[in-house]
Amino acid sequence: MPQAVYTPRREAPGESVVAVELRDVNKWFGSFHALKNINLSVPRGQRVVICGPSGSGKSTMIRCINHLEEHQSGEIIVNGKPVTQDLRKVDEVRSNAGMVFQHFNLFPHLTVLENCTLAPVWVRKMPRMAAEELARHYLDRVKIAEKATNYPGQLSGGQQQRAAIARALCMNPRVMLFDEPTSALDPEMVKEVLDTMVSLAGEGMTMLCVTHEMGFAREVADRVVFMDHGEIVEANTPHEFFANSRSERARQFLAQIL
Ligand code: ADP
Ligand code: MG
Repeated sequence: MPQAVYTPRREAPGESVVAVELRDVNKWFGSFHALKNINLSVPRGQRVVICGPSGSGKSTMIRCINHLEEHQSGEIIVNGKPVTQDLRKVDEVRSNAGMVFQHFNLFPHLTVLENCTLAPVWVRKMPRMAAEELARHYLDRVKIAEKATNYPGQLSGGQQQRAAIARALCMNPRVMLFDEPTSALDPEMVKEVLDTMVSLAGEGMTMLCVTHEMGFAREVADRVVFMDHGEIVEANTPHEFFANSRSERARQFLAQIL
């Protein structure tokens, strides 16, 4: 396979250096105001950890970025492309942003390899052989090459989550979105998934990661965003956030989880 198929994408001339931008984003579920005037700009290569109490809007924000939910006002721009209601553009947005969920969301009736090749073949129209080679590359990268022909149900939780990361990487995304990727895992499997994420971060991948793994935040985050009641209450460097959070709400939250 030509090396270029799986080397990280290079910046094309004129490409946005802002990977993800949210401007005055609002989202309602019926009359419930779930996201309130969210503003966030994530430069290419930045690692952002998003934390906050349950129900504060973290998943909703991540899901709006990937157009799994629609926002009602404001702008979301992923890699220079607005996330619009235009369904024809959804595939484009989704292939720019790889998503990893709390519950893995692998297709149970497909092997790990088939999970990884599905979108490259059907969305990207990649020839099957090339897609398989790409998938094997990433499965090797997340250290589960030997599980390629197994079904998700035959893997441990940590292995399934690493397969889900490999699947997202196969679309060669510009941004990786993680929504509590380790919170459904048994404690002994958390580390293997975090290690995979740390190594991705080390390669310069832009990452937005909802997690309460504060060790991960300290180690890799450029910025910690704290949400509460649908708002971004604070965005700070990890050092500042942990040492002296500006907001009382963040201090209370940290006191509970640390
Ligand atoms: P978090 O991920 O921070 O725990 P969520 O983004 O999942 O929070 O949810 C934020 C708020 O929006 C919660 O109050 C939740 O009940 C509400 N919410 C989320 N999804 C829906 C939905 N599909 N319909 C109605 N309310 C929702
Ligand atoms: Mg959530």
